[in-house]
Amino acid sequence: MIHKEKVWPDILGEIQRRVRHQQFETWFRNVKLQACSPETLTLVVPNTFCHEWLKRRYLDTIRGAALAVMGSTPEVELVVEETGDPVAASPAQQAPAPPPRPASVARAHYPADWAARLNRGYRFASFVVGASNALAHAAALAISDNPGQAYNPLFLHGGVGLGKTHLIQAITHRLLEARGELSVLYIPCESFMNHFIASVQNGEREKFREVYRGLDALLIDDIHFLSRGAREATQEEFFHTFNALYNAGKQIVLSSDCAPRELTKLEERLVSRFKWGLVARVDAPSYEMRVAILRKKAEMRGRRFPDAALQFIAENIDTNIRDLEGAVTKVIAFAALANKLITLSLVKQALRDIVERVAAAVTMEDVIRAVTAEYRVKLSELQSKRRSQSVALPRQVAMYLARRLTRYSLEEIGGYFGGRDHTTVMHACDKIGGLVKREPSLAATIEHLTARIRSHP
Ligand code: ADP
Ligand code: MG
Repeated sequence: MIHKEKVWPDILGEIQRRVRHQQFETWFRNVKLQACSPETLTLVVPNTFCHEWLKRRYLDTIRGAALAVMGSTPEVELVVEETGDPVAASPAQQAPAPPPRPASVARAHYPADWAARLNRGYRFASFVVGASNALAHAAALAISDNPGQAYNPLFLHGGVGLGKTHLIQAITHRLLEARGELSVLYIPCESFMNHFIASVQNGEREKFREVYRGLDALLIDDIHFLSRGAREATQEEFFHTFNALYNAGKQIVLSSDCAPRELTKLEERLVSRFKWGLVARVDAPSYEMRVAILRKKAEMRGRRFPDAALQFIAENIDTNIRDLEGAVTKVIAFAALANKLITLSLVKQALRDIVERVAAAVTMEDVIRAVTAEYRVKLSELQSKRRSQSVALPRQVAMYLARRLTRYSLEEIGGYFGGRDHTTVMHACDKIGGLVKREPSLAATIEHLTARIRSHP
């Protein structure tokens, strides 16, 4: 069980830093914690008015504060206190408070409780191989056959929806099936972090260590969370787990949304270890590969798309594989509803909004035009080395919007704004992203800039 006496004051402290004094006094001073687990925070609020207000305005603030303290973003449940106060009385208030959900932490001693359920479809057999993922795929196969010996660690990285989770789970399936005697654990990084935090709070650190160090293969998905959400102690523990497994010749596989060197908030000694084995990047698929993937996905759903339909989708969707899958699902649903065969013209109809969005792709000029007009700065100032607030803020806003609305990479965006490097862009995105949550006026500015940019004035 997470000790709520310890957690709640810390979360309140975080909230206090994020909202104005008066807001804190009005909305948070009398809120109490009823129960908490990494998945759910149940808060007791004094009346329905407060309930509504927190629900509408502050859920993100509460979750953000919880993330800072607990290392996870729980769902927030608000329960109205039964005071009998006639002013605040309402049906919602008279309803009995729902019982707190069981805190999953209490019984979670073994990784089995923390290990994610594997997706049964994420296997080598259903993985389409092409130039963009050939190295990652070959390495994944090699370590499935020779864990601990071929490449250790294997570090897979690449953008969202490009198959990292699929591959890392395919390795897990194969190890579990072919080598039943091995103890293999696949775990998302967030769960690993939560498990560690819970074990500290329950005084079960030793047990935690025993469990992880007794593994033959540890596969952690989305390790970048360790650099963004983890406290030092968690990083430290991971470091020791890594060393123990590595030294014992056990297999470690990690996936991340960026290269090791871009994990800027992670200790250097960890980052350098990630590079000891093989670092393999998965890239966005080429046109031919997109066609192959679409064909396979349609086949797996028992459908045949005409070639022209596959080509049309592949031409119009070049973001990632998850989006390709989404398009296939959409087309199949559309055909079923319209009770029609899958043809090129049906596909065009079904994917009309996606195709329009692509046609309206935002350029860097669109972003610059809107930001310079909004803040009355010149492009040359955004590209200059000046750091005064009057230039720095618009520059960061422009980077943030460019990242969100265009397809440029961090490097390309940095290059555009006076040859700054990708970490500067990443920092700008994090910063503005954080500010937007705290400052309604900035949030409003970003919203109208976004609308304006999307409409290409
Ligand atoms: P990531 O973890 O990199 O964000 P996922 O592994 O979740 O991406 O992949 C997103 C979706 O695309 C999944 O449903 C996955 O099965 C599918 N997918 C990704 N790569 C391939 C591939 N090479 N062949 C077939 N399906 C793929
Ligand atoms: Mg993933």
